[in-house]
Amino acid sequence: MSKRDYLHCSFCGREKKDTQMLIAGINAHICDQCITQAENIIREELSGGDSKDGFKGDFTLIKPKDIKAHLDQYVIGQDEAKKVLSVAVYNHYKRLQYKRKEEEVEIEKSNIMMVGETGTGKTLLARTIARFLQVPFCIVDATILTEAGYVGEDVESILSRLLQAANYDVKAAERGIVFIDEMDKVARKSDNPSITRDVSGEGVQQAMLKLLEGSKVNVPPQGGRKHPDQKFVEIDTSNILFIAGGAFDGIQRHIARRLNTSAVGFQNHKKEASSVDKENLLSYVAPQDLKSFGLIPELIGRMPVLTYLNPLDASALRDILTQPKNAIIKQYSSLFAMDNIELEVPEDTLGFIVEKAIEFKLGARGLRSICEAILTDAMFDLPGDESTKSFVLTKDYAHKKFGKYSEAKLKEAS
Ligand code: ADP
Repeated sequence: MSKRDYLHCSFCGREKKDTQMLIAGINAHICDQCITQAENIIREELSGGDSKDGFKGDFTLIKPKDIKAHLDQYVIGQDEAKKVLSVAVYNHYKRLQYKRKEEEVEIEKSNIMMVGETGTGKTLLARTIARFLQVPFCIVDATILTEAGYVGEDVESILSRLLQAANYDVKAAERGIVFIDEMDKVARKSDNPSITRDVSGEGVQQAMLKLLEGSKVNVPPQGGRKHPDQKFVEIDTSNILFIAGGAFDGIQRHIARRLNTSAVGFQNHKKEASSVDKENLLSYVAPQDLKSFGLIPELIGRMPVLTYLNPLDASALRDILTQPKNAIIKQYSSLFAMDNIELEVPEDTLGFIVEKAIEFKLGARGLRSICEAILTDAMFDLPGDESTKSFVLTKDYAHKKFGKYSEAKLKEAS
């Protein structure tokens, strides 16, 4: 390996291959990202730090109906969540514009909480919205966060990631979207405040408050504690939209208990109780259920928009295979098309894939691994075979390829 391969940025340590451009100095190198970051720091210092009163760039407001229509192209079902999200996102960015016009009434932030089983589309919804709005977006797993000073990451690292996603453009990061996954994992273990310290549960919730409500936070741009000398960047979180998601396993119990007790006292409470859709208790989720689950009221208050996602049934899984703009089967068709082979997947094969995803409790996430298991041999054998112009993925073929080996592998994963 030549010496050139080891070139790295003397500021952030990125290797040359991980940068778009590495500029050489006398005894050092600097990468494009560090140049952008340095430029921001200089601009910040020269402007005396007064440029933080909200986003000043051009921003086109997109109507909730248009946001939902866009989501419909990528996400199957989940109409309620799509509607709630579209409105919350619209209001959030409208609020930003009002600020620009210095409207009198202060509109509060509409951070969002999504409750739904894993693999039902929470991350997909947040990611699709961010991409549509062209704002910086990052996903953070709440389970890696701990209270400051403990092993794990401080909550400020959430903003480091957003800053990285924004290419170190502080202004852009300040109107970005953060998706906090597995929010249910920071619930405190019992409904009573603990006597011992709860550094990864309630402690993290407390630490998150200041990010969510909107305040100026000092953020280590490279994140973590690996770079102790880095200069902190101040980020104002008042216009950052936080979307949290979690499966909240077992929250149905809290919902059922609340629905039962609240029905008492109603004249026609029997009817009330029977009109409850027991199959989908999540659709009744309310802030007090999150509290019973172990989130602190202050945190719940800072995520005022609460919505739920439905579990995906067979017909939703079937649609996910072929309907979204970048549906899994469409992706495989494109891959085959590049080798001039037309891929055909009959309806009963689609049914077989869905059946296996349900059988192994893999949900939508499993659809891709199942397709991969079924199609690997064909993707290996067919390219280069000039005589093959089309390939029909029959159910029998799928059944054969989805042999014992993949079954065992998938069972392990489920
Ligand atoms: P969650 O965040 O709820 O755990 P994800 O959004 O990460 O789930 O979903 C995992 C994958 O499953 C997605 O990348 C997507 O391919 C697929 N998926 C899940 N739900 C849907 C849906 N409603 N419509 C389309 N694809 C979906």
